[in-house]
Amino acid sequence: MDNALEAALRAGQSVFFTNPGRAPLVTVAGSLAVTRADIEVAGDRLERFAPLLAELFPELAPAGGSVESALVPVPVLERRLHAAGLPAGDRVFLKADHALPVVGSVKARGGLHAVLAVAEALALADGLLSGPRDEYRRLGEPAARDFFAGHTLSVGSTGNLGLSIGVFGRGLGFGVTVHMSAEARAWKKEKLRRVGATVVEHPGDYAAACAVAREEAARSPRRHFIDDENSLDLLLGYAVAGLRLPDQLAACRIAVSPEHPLCLHLPCGVGGAPGGIALGARLVLGDAAQAYFVEPTQAPALLLGLATGRHGGVSAAVYGLTGRTVADGLAVSRPSELVCRLMASVLDGAHTVSDAALLGHVAEAWNDEALRLEPSAAAALAGPLAVRRANLPALAGRAATHICWATGGSLLPDAEFAALLARAGTRP
Ligand SMILES: *Cc1c(COP(=O)(O)O)cnc(C)c1O
Repeated sequence: MDNALEAALRAGQSVFFTNPGRAPLVTVAGSLAVTRADIEVAGDRLERFAPLLAELFPELAPAGGSVESALVPVPVLERRLHAAGLPAGDRVFLKADHALPVVGSVKARGGLHAVLAVAEALALADGLLSGPRDEYRRLGEPAARDFFAGHTLSVGSTGNLGLSIGVFGRGLGFGVTVHMSAEARAWKKEKLRRVGATVVEHPGDYAAACAVAREEAARSPRRHFIDDENSLDLLLGYAVAGLRLPDQLAACRIAVSPEHPLCLHLPCGVGGAPGGIALGARLVLGDAAQAYFVEPTQAPALLLGLATGRHGGVSAAVYGLTGRTVADGLAVSRPSELVCRLMASVLDGAHTVSDAALLGHVAEAWNDEALRLEPSAAAALAGPLAVRRANLPALAGRAATHICWATGGSLLPDAEFAALLARAGTRP
């Protein structure tokens, strides 16, 4: 790793890393572990289950069982960024995953898809389903629910993934055990217990919670570990967002071309959600779709994995960083090996943001646009200026569209949100 970058990282300063491995799609698509066809298979699975989901979750009924969020303009925020130095030709939009139905975070797509992949495989093996064209709504009937109740899904989480697997898994009738790391917020644990999931609290960090869950599942064929660090099904579920982007961009009259690059600003923890989205967008929209990850200064994981070339073998702790941050969803010190390998040639850059800045972005999102974002999600708002200040050749002289991917927060309890705003020095 570059000496100046390492010194700034160790000092806990915000840093910007430009990925030297970023390569044109034609040269790398053939060697990536994930293809567009794989993502389409995941999208089809979500569609097969949609009628069942619309019955199980009343919130999903209006959209026919589809779990998707809006792409929206954020004119006040955009004006503020222009005043702060964003080039006048740049536009800013927000992807409202904080308002995804049922679980209120980016984990909805990935977690749901991972749960459905387990459910479908079990149901096909047991004869509850005869094939992909069968009537999936049958899986909501008592016989199927009894069958799923004999199986337990387990997962390690900083909070939101547990919530997604817990709520969707319990909705289908599975037993669910969530191993929560020290960062996990109390209200997320309470919500999980209310839906009947077992919550195991760990004093250690996220990797330690995952390790316990992984080991426990290895001992029983009726336990299914959803591995945040290595699961392709999770990643593919996240990547489906990329398949759905072209229609949303067209509806907002956003053209994507070499002259008008699209910059996705993606908050990053272990890497699965931003990695899946970055990959999906790149495979579907081509090289004009650029991806930038945002991480806390005390918990850079993917940035370190790529900057050192050590991928999943690196940890922020080795650089004297605590891994502790107000952005609970990003409190991860060691990146996913799977995602590092995929992002080595796909990611454009990654940068870090202090907790104070994250709280400032929570307040901005609320004051400017009345958005209830958790600090992890607000990290995305740091993206446009950070990327412009990095003076990247790929953006020089071009008018870019920025999409800040708001990854969670609409379910934050009032008291929790008020406390965040108070820390940021503002009022609800
Ligand atoms: C999990 C999460 C992320 C990051 O996803 P990873 O797969 O851990 O990289 C970002 N924002 C929120 C709100 C999250 O819950």
